[in-house]
Amino acid sequence: MGATVGDLDRRHFLAGAAATAALITAGCSDDTSDRSADDGGPGGASASSTTTPQVDWDSIDGQAVPSEPFKLGVASGDPLPAAVILWTRLAPDPLAADGSGGMDDDDREVGWELATDETFAEVVAQGSVTATASHGHAIHVDATGLEPATTYWYRFRCGGETSALGRTRTLPEGDVERFRLAVANCQMLDGSAYAAYRHMLDEELDVVLHLGDYIYEYPGVGAAGGGSEPTHMVTTLTDYRLRYASYKLDEDLRNAHAAVPFVVTWDDHEVANNYAGNTLPANTPEDEVKALRTAAYQAWWEHLPVRLDPPEEDRLDVHRAFTVGNLARLHVLDQRQHADLPPCRTDEGPNTDMGNCEEVGAPRTLLGDEQEAWVADSLAEGGVTWNLLGNPIVLAGIDIGTDSPQFYLETWDGYPQARLRLIEALAASTNPVVLTGDYHQGMVLDVHQVPHDPTSPIVAPELMAPPISSMLFSADVSPRTPHLREQTDAHGYMTVDVTPDRVTAEFRVLDDVTDPQSTVTTASTWVVDAGDPVAHPA
Ligand code: FE
Ligand code: CA
Repeated sequence: MGATVGDLDRRHFLAGAAATAALITAGCSDDTSDRSADDGGPGGASASSTTTPQVDWDSIDGQAVPSEPFKLGVASGDPLPAAVILWTRLAPDPLAADGSGGMDDDDREVGWELATDETFAEVVAQGSVTATASHGHAIHVDATGLEPATTYWYRFRCGGETSALGRTRTLPEGDVERFRLAVANCQMLDGSAYAAYRHMLDEELDVVLHLGDYIYEYPGVGAAGGGSEPTHMVTTLTDYRLRYASYKLDEDLRNAHAAVPFVVTWDDHEVANNYAGNTLPANTPEDEVKALRTAAYQAWWEHLPVRLDPPEEDRLDVHRAFTVGNLARLHVLDQRQHADLPPCRTDEGPNTDMGNCEEVGAPRTLLGDEQEAWVADSLAEGGVTWNLLGNPIVLAGIDIGTDSPQFYLETWDGYPQARLRLIEALAASTNPVVLTGDYHQGMVLDVHQVPHDPTSPIVAPELMAPPISSMLFSADVSPRTPHLREQTDAHGYMTVDVTPDRVTAEFRVLDDVTDPQSTVTTASTWVVDAGDPVAHPA
């Protein structure tokens, strides 16, 4: 078995993290790295810093910064064999009403160190990066020149204060015997708890794949009521920053980010319910949608550990792929930003995009032309046993009607022609497995070459992760969805264990989503054998 994050002594890690978090030290290691300045990882996109070998710790520590600026924690993400993104945001007063996090308008230099052990005896990379007020004093460090399949520890410093300790891990390369991820999505905080994230700490994960609805834009119940800020509908950059800060003040979410690198895409609620391209229900004017997107994309970028340049207004290319040696490639999609208007939108009632009409069969794009061409190329690249598709919204199709067909038409069911093209690209790839979120249920489905036509060949299994905490959908979709193999009406997450012979998915479900101490159990375990697109129970 290949080394995974879980090969470490987790208890030891957490104790070390707590000790380091409590320690505010002005001392620093004078170790300089012998391989810290490898400019530019293989990821292509640049982040907001590059590694620099010389760090002026005295000047970093000499800056005036309000106490405890690292309350939003630390995170890592978008791992590559030689690089990983390290994230934090200076926010000594995370819920300051102006969204500033309690910082003034001055930029700050933030130092960072990365080591192969949690005592930082051996610092292998370090540097400093400017946290700008214009980006909410958030930073993304692309730590490069790293070794593959290696666990690292990192921390930040500013104004004499040291962050909590983070742990991360680079991707393996070459022959890979095992890779293990958890799939998360839909994490409404108000009224729920994040026991799911607490349990992920015990899952020996290499990566957490987040498929979106990281936040919800609805009015929060407020921090005083144990929920999120602001208490009105989220519409401005200040609002979105407060919403992310509220979520990241949750200890279980923060600890998960500090323990495992995340690969994150988004769905609709990072902007607004059922947004599609430059449209929203209720005939919202396009300039209003653009303003929402501009604010929302910036706040998303500020708060997540992604290897992406900051958005330009309402444009941010989120789709990207990660190659796990010869074992797997993870292709991550954005299914909202470039979408055409969904069909049959009525602007009446709460389920504005539910229904069916003649118009469904007309041509329209979900991914946009550029992303659609990209994913076809990415799936065709080859050299791996498995092609995992990070697909936020259900692909196989779900008919929720009773007497006649009814669909959620802002999902792939509203884009049937574009869907056929994606399925064709999947069918041409090696062992495709679709990983999905959004539906607030756990499901196992067959993706047919022609969805809703059970006589057409099965191309791939679709494994839908249950929601971390958002309200369950619950209705039984089986009567008109014969390609549904299982539906799990519970909160939690899905682990996906990938080996050369099989992919094993465990549906890990919570006893009580409102209880941070809730237990987790395995509701079911499904196996996909290499060479067979039909998932079967373990
Ligand atoms: Fe959701
Ligand atoms: Ca959604």
